[in-house]
Amino acid sequence: MRNILPIVLLLAAGCSGLEDSEREKLRKMNATGEHIYRSHDEILFAIKKPTHFVRETYPWEDSYVGNQIKITREFFRCKGSSHHTPITKQTDGQPAYIVDCGGMQQHSLPLKDGKEHIYPALFDLLNYIQEKTQKKVIITCGHRCPTHNTYADPSQYNETSKHMIGAEVDFYVKGLEWSPEAIVDIVKQYYKEHPKFKTIVQFTEFERYEHETNVTTLPWYNKEIFIKLFKKDEGRDLDNNHRFPYLSIQLIWDRDTDEPVTYTWSKAFNNYLRY
Ligand SMILES: [Zn+2]
Repeated sequence: MRNILPIVLLLAAGCSGLEDSEREKLRKMNATGEHIYRSHDEILFAIKKPTHFVRETYPWEDSYVGNQIKITREFFRCKGSSHHTPITKQTDGQPAYIVDCGGMQQHSLPLKDGKEHIYPALFDLLNYIQEKTQKKVIITCGHRCPTHNTYADPSQYNETSKHMIGAEVDFYVKGLEWSPEAIVDIVKQYYKEHPKFKTIVQFTEFERYEHETNVTTLPWYNKEIFIKLFKKDEGRDLDNNHRFPYLSIQLIWDRDTDEPVTYTWSKAFNNYLRY
């Protein structure tokens, strides 16, 4: 029985092939052809004029600007760490211990409408710089929670830093570390090319801030941002403990709400999640 079954199957397959070829032969013998005629304007189905369609980008294509990974709010997370040794600060003649925060593992970014939020103008600008230079922007300080803000720079000048509300960023450009003024020119160019701002003089024209600050180069500002250039021996704090000059961009105007961006204690201290 075991040997008979394959033979039966083989015969069945053979018969089927023979029938097919016979049927095809008959079809060819009986087939007749005739021409199909139609008038020039006789159309059964109207064909729409094709329109050019640009395909949507894949998620991994969206994550690049030129040859650099696109900067998002993730790049702005607090750089505090519970491994940092506490420091002491003299307050009214008494030593006070300052402990760092636990960093991104222990708290969120600032919140807006219940979601983590960094002002998008900042990463838009930084991505523009990456696109123009084809070089990587190194963010040394994005969001600083109030604890890390005090730990990294306990000076009084820093007490109302907009780093705490996600409206300030410190950075340099890898490969252009020693040309921060060239980066300032690129930032100015951003406003001259931006569809929303290129015709508004308050955004395209920058002025110099001629009052005393913590830098020796006069800062630049337009309606939206305030740029400071820290030379290699200026503005050294825990987050900027490197040997390069760097730029700090601070938002002074919110392009989405058309309101000034201001620091408040409540925005800094009451507006992020502790884990
Ligand atoms: Zn922190």
